[in-house]
Amino acid sequence: MGTCSGCNTSYPALDSDSCGQCTKLQGKTETERRVIKSHPQCHGCSIVYLNLLGPLCGRCIGSGVKVDDTYEEFDNSAIEDLTPEPETVVIIILILFCSSRAFYHCFKPYAMC
Ligand SMILES: [Zn+2]
Ligand SMILES: [Zn+2]
Repeated sequence: MGTCSGCNTSYPALDSDSCGQCTKLQGKTETERRVIKSHPQCHGCSIVYLNLLGPLCGRCIGSGVKVDDTYEEFDNSAIEDLTPEPETVVIIILILFCSSRAFYHCFKPYAMC
């Protein structure tokens, strides 16, 4: 059991001071950090994988780490708050549609605008 000194997250199979994600994020640009954060991370050893099916990687499953050892908190209310109302989505689509048409019109060669 180890706790990452960067993000304060505990991993049952962490054997260093810093988790896989924090190690990978070091010295990266904002864009690269976003890509790394979107990748799945093993909840046992904290290693970030490009493709990971389930919460634990093969190495952790092989060494006997159980999902019960990891803890995940799902705050359903927070997820619901982030979902926009259908009306809002329609308005956003309309704005995007109108602005892209205007953009296309004004930058089209020979356009009289
Ligand atoms: Zn970390
Ligand atoms: Zn693992």
